[in-house]
Amino acid sequence: MEFFEFLNTAVTPYHTVDALKSYFRENSFANFDCGSALEPGKAYFVCRGASIIAFRTPKAWSEASKFRIALAHTDFPTLKISPNPDGMNAGVCTLHTEVYGSPLYTSWLDRDLGYAGMLAYVDAADGQTLKTKLFRGEKLFRIPQLAVHLNRGVNQDGLKVNPQIDFNALWAGASNCSASENRKNLFVKALEKELPAEARLIDFDVQLFDAQPANRGGFNDEWIYSGRLDNLSSCHAIAEAIVGAKSAENDCLVACFFNNEEVGSTTREGAAGNFLKSVLDSIASLQNDCHPGVREHDRAQAPLSSTLAESIALSIDMAHAEHPNHTEKYEPNHAPLLGKGIVLKTNAQKRYASDLMSSAQLRLLCEKAGIPLQVFITRNDMPCGSTVGPTVSANLGIPTVDIGEPMLSMHSIREMMAASDHADMIKLVEALFC
Ligand SMILES: [Zn+2]
Repeated sequence: MEFFEFLNTAVTPYHTVDALKSYFRENSFANFDCGSALEPGKAYFVCRGASIIAFRTPKAWSEASKFRIALAHTDFPTLKISPNPDGMNAGVCTLHTEVYGSPLYTSWLDRDLGYAGMLAYVDAADGQTLKTKLFRGEKLFRIPQLAVHLNRGVNQDGLKVNPQIDFNALWAGASNCSASENRKNLFVKALEKELPAEARLIDFDVQLFDAQPANRGGFNDEWIYSGRLDNLSSCHAIAEAIVGAKSAENDCLVACFFNNEEVGSTTREGAAGNFLKSVLDSIASLQNDCHPGVREHDRAQAPLSSTLAESIALSIDMAHAEHPNHTEKYEPNHAPLLGKGIVLKTNAQKRYASDLMSSAQLRLLCEKAGIPLQVFITRNDMPCGSTVGPTVSANLGIPTVDIGEPMLSMHSIREMMAASDHADMIKLVEALFC
C-alpha cells in the first residue's frame, strides 16, 4: 500500500479502516465473522466500528504456540462537527465543533480544512432499516485567526485559543443560503446531498481534517510532512508487515488497529473494550480443530491465559524526537533523534507497558534485524503521555513493549518525521512476523 496515498486517504478513523480493509481483501485475507470456523494457515480480518484486526492463523497449534501481536490506533486528534452545529454570524454560516483528543490548537487555524465521516440514513421506500455511508466532502472550510492588528501583543504573549469561542468553522457565505431555509438544519441539508436520492439522514459522525496532501521535505527529501502521521505511520508499517508475512508454523500473527486511543480507549471498539479478547478466544478455539483425531484430554491445550503470558505485543505509536530549538525539554541521555531509528519508550510510572523482559526481547529483535534503537524517557519534572500498550497488557496479560518512530509536532494538524525511520519500522514488524 503506497504510504502517501494511505496518509491522504485515511482522513477519519472510518477511512483508515476502509483503506486497511481493502488492502487486506486485495491480498486474500477473508472476512472473519466471529463464531464461524477458522482454518489453519489462513489470513483473516474482522472489523468493529472504526477498529480492525487482521491475523494469520498458524499452520498447526502446538503446546508452544504463541501470539505475536502488533498494536496501533486508527484515530487522531481532530475537531468533530457537533450534533446541532449551525450558526450564523457576520454574514457567514458557521459550524460549531467539539474537540476530540488533544490537538495542538493553534495549528488548526488558517488551514484548508476538509470534512468527512460516516452518515446513518434510511431509504425513502423502506424508512426503517439503518444504512451507513462513508463520505468525504469536496469543499474546503476554514477557521481564520484574528489579524495581528486586532490582537495586539499576540506575538509577545502567544496566541491563546479558547476552543468554545475560536473553533467555529466558516463553511459558507450566508448570502448563498436561502432565507426560507431552516437555519438550524443547513449543514444536515448539505450532508443529505451525499446520500442516494430520496434518502433521509438520521445521524452523522463528521470531522474536519487537514486537506493538504503529504509531502517530502528537507534538502535531501529525508523528511515526511503530513497530517495524521500519529498514528497512520504505525498502521501502515503493521499493515505492510502482516500482508507480506507468511503463516507461521505454530504461532499466530495478529495486527490490531484500534479506534479511540486519543480519548482513552474505553469504548466498544477501543483497546480497553473486549474486541481483541473475543478475537483471540476465537483463534484459540482453532487449536481443537487442529487435532481432530485426538481425544479431548490428550489434546495439547494450553489455556488462553498461559498462551498470552508467553506471547509478545509491540505497541506501536509515535515517539517524541528531540526538537532542535528546545533541547531543554528532553532528558539529555534519552532524547531520540529524527532519522536514527526506532524508539523504545519506557516509564517508571508505567505510562508505557515496556518492562524488563519485553524490552529485552525488543532489543534482541532489533539486533537480529539490524535496526538501530534509541531509548526515550521523559524528564522527571514533566508528565508522560501514554498508548494502548498498558491497557492491552494489563487486560490480557500479554508482555508488551511500547515503541515508535521519532517525530516532531506531535498532535499538530501537520506533523513531521524521517522517511528512514518508517522504513526501519516496517523492517522491525516484518521481523516480528517472520
Ligand atoms: Zn498516537
